[in-house]
Amino acid sequence: MSPEAERKMQFLYAVRSKGVTDRRVLMAMEKIDRADFIQGFFSERAYEDMPLPIACGQTISQPSVVGLMTQALDVQPRDTVLEVGTGSGYQAAILSQLARRIYTVDRHKRLVQGARAVFDKLDLANITAFTADGSFGLPDQAPFDRILVTAAAEDPPGPLLAQLRVGGVMVLPVGQSDAVQRLIRVKRGPEGFEYDELRAVRFVPLVEGLGRDT
Ligand code: SAH
Repeated sequence: MSPEAERKMQFLYAVRSKGVTDRRVLMAMEKIDRADFIQGFFSERAYEDMPLPIACGQTISQPSVVGLMTQALDVQPRDTVLEVGTGSGYQAAILSQLARRIYTVDRHKRLVQGARAVFDKLDLANITAFTADGSFGLPDQAPFDRILVTAAAEDPPGPLLAQLRVGGVMVLPVGQSDAVQRLIRVKRGPEGFEYDELRAVRFVPLVEGLGRDT
């Protein structure tokens, strides 16, 4: 086996051993190469199960956390999904393998442009990326079957709850940015919202307004 193939096998092994068991999620993570989403020096470490720095002082999430969040979201093939926090585009690319349509937004224009270039290169035509403050969601594209937030808010943003379809699921980290946050799953039923807590996580904060690079 080539060293490259071996590193990829270890990558999937690490993800599985942290609790990602959903076959479709594992297949998506096998197909989408994380190295495509990391530029420069750190690309050598793409197959390690750790967050890594990307542009604009942000991070690409830890692969096992990407897997666990995707699994918790329980994405269905016909779903329209909103991701808040495009970052490198890696999480959106994983979602693109599992759902019909992905909208992803980031407050940094530079990150959105970089992610779009990778989506084009990999021919991931079902992803649309926008520069926007994702705490307001995307009213023109709402409602969404699934919403995934990859930056931590103190509470689930009201506009995102409002844009979740009845029967829909949202997964997001909540808590103060400098403390341990909790990963929460929100299910919207006909009678209202149901919350459950999944695990402790650590994400960069959800910040209001657009990034200064725009
Ligand atoms: N999902 C990404 C990692 C995201 S890091 C990946 O797969 O690489 C969190 C991202 O959330 C950062 O890029 C940050 O710019 C973005 N972010 C923070 N606050 C935001 C907001 N209000 N609206 C949109 N994006 C936001």
